[in-house]
Amino acid sequence: MSNIIQKIRDIQRIGNHIPPMDVEVAEPHKCLNCDTEFKGNYCPNCGQKAGVGRLRIRNTIVNFLGLFTKMNRGAVHTIVDLLYRPGFMMREYLDGHRAEYASPLLLVFLVITLNVILPYSSSVSTVYPEQWTTMLQDYPVSYWLTRAWVWLFEDDRRTYLFFGLLLTPAIWLTAKIVRAGKYSPNFAESFHMLLYIISLMLFLELIYNQTKWIPGIGYSIYHVMDHIMAFVVFPFIVFFSVWDCLKLNWKKMIVFMILAPLILYLCFNVMFLFINFVLQMDLPKDIYKQINLLYMINK
Ligand SMILES: [Zn+2]
Repeated sequence: MSNIIQKIRDIQRIGNHIPPMDVEVAEPHKCLNCDTEFKGNYCPNCGQKAGVGRLRIRNTIVNFLGLFTKMNRGAVHTIVDLLYRPGFMMREYLDGHRAEYASPLLLVFLVITLNVILPYSSSVSTVYPEQWTTMLQDYPVSYWLTRAWVWLFEDDRRTYLFFGLLLTPAIWLTAKIVRAGKYSPNFAESFHMLLYIISLMLFLELIYNQTKWIPGIGYSIYHVMDHIMAFVVFPFIVFFSVWDCLKLNWKKMIVFMILAPLILYLCFNVMFLFINFVLQMDLPKDIYKQINLLYMINK
C-alpha cells in the first residue's frame, strides 16, 4: 500500500518544465510595438512577439484555441495539473514557474464562464435542458452575459464565495501560526492559492453536474455528489494542496487542520460584524442560518 502511495507521489512530483524555444527570428528585427532593434523571439523592451504579421483567420483560430489547449499557460494543462497534484502545481507557480500555468485570475473566470454557458452546470436553480431551447429563443446573448454575473450571486454561490474568499486570511494566518517557514505564503500568494482551489472546485462541480442529464436518478446522484463535494472532497482538496504546497510535516498539518477551520469561522464572524453593523447591510439568509455565531447565540 505505502509502495503504491510512494509511486503516486513520485508521479506527482515529475516537473513539466517548458524547454527554451527555438529562435524563430534569428536576424536582427525591429519591434512593431516599440521600435526596439533585437534578436530573438520576444522584444526585450516591451515583450511583444517577434514576427508579428497581419491578422489572419488561421492565427486567430490558433490564438483562441491556444487559450484552452496550449501547453504554456494553457487552461486545460493547468486544470489537469490541478486535478492530480494541486499542491505541487501551486508551489511551482509560487516559486516562479509562471510561464507553465494559466494565471488563477484568468482560470477562475474561464471556469465560471464554462459553468454559465453549459446547461445543467450551475447550482440547483440552473436552467433545465427542457427549458434550454426556449431560453435561447427568448433571451438575447446579453442575457447570457448578464447571467454570468447573476450566477455569481445566486444563493448557493454566494455562500460559496463568501466562504471561499475568507479562506485567504485563513490559509495565510494559519500558515503564520504553524510557522510554515520559507514556504509560508504571503497574503497575495494565499489569494492565488485560493483562486486555484476555487477553479478546481468549480471545474469538478461542472463535471458532476452533468449527472443531471441521466433520466430519473440524475438529480439524486447530483444531490449525493453535492454533499460529498462539500464535506469530503472540498476539505480534502484544501488540506492536501496546502500540505503539499507549504511542505508541512504531519505535526504542523494536524495543527493546521484544527486551526484553519477555527480561523475561517472567526474571519466569517468578523466579516459579519463589519457588514452588519458598519455597512448596515443584510447578508443572504442562508448565510445567517448556517454559520453565524451571533445568530446562534441570539436563538
Ligand atoms: Zn517592443
